[in-house]
Amino acid sequence: MESNQKRICNVPFDIRDEKITTDVKDAASLSTFYLNIISKPSINLTSPSPKLIILDLNGTLCFRKKKKSKNKIYHIILRPFINEFINYLFDNFSVMIWSTSRPENVDKMVNLIFGDQKEKLVAVWARDKFGFTNEEYERDTKAIKDLDIIWKALNSQTESTTKFMLDPTNTILIDDSRYKTQLQPFNAIHPRGFDRERVREGGDSELTMIIKYLEVVKHQSNVAAYMKDNPFTDRIQ
Ligand SMILES: [Mg+2]
Repeated sequence: MESNQKRICNVPFDIRDEKITTDVKDAASLSTFYLNIISKPSINLTSPSPKLIILDLNGTLCFRKKKKSKNKIYHIILRPFINEFINYLFDNFSVMIWSTSRPENVDKMVNLIFGDQKEKLVAVWARDKFGFTNEEYERDTKAIKDLDIIWKALNSQTESTTKFMLDPTNTILIDDSRYKTQLQPFNAIHPRGFDRERVREGGDSELTMIIKYLEVVKHQSNVAAYMKDNPFTDRIQ
């Protein structure tokens, strides 16, 4: 069992990463395709069906704390129970990363968080996967994680990385930002953001709470329909 102690590592970072607002003030309307799928009740399966977990990094699995003294240097503080969480995910799901950070920064975080286990990730996506123009990429452009982009890309591969067809019934996005998940909101689990305040408070156990929640969700035939009626945020504390 992993200790609940925070682990810190100094890694040089490009500081031009985005600063994303977290409000959902211009939430898009949901597609007919999506509304249709979430209207179909989920069945509790005896054996879990294959599912894909898409992980956010900063604020979900770690916190990047900028050092005051040196430019472009960050502390990366890993969230408590991170190893237990990663091992659980790889034992039960296909797992990929999708971060709004730049590829070079994502690589650093992935190396630190996953170590040798990063080979098990079916994909690692970064800021270059949002279809931004060069200008948008360089600015603090707000990014929405549209799962359609992932479904189209991964389902069209000749040799499917996940070995099953992805859709709203079997895809789970874990992200502390509600803004970023607004196009398929019922496919998202929102942990409390792992930020400066949470680090200072200590005692964070969001990742163990997600494991408990996923133990139920993994048996669902339609995760979007199930999570719409039983969101993670309604969990018993
Ligand atoms: Mg985040």
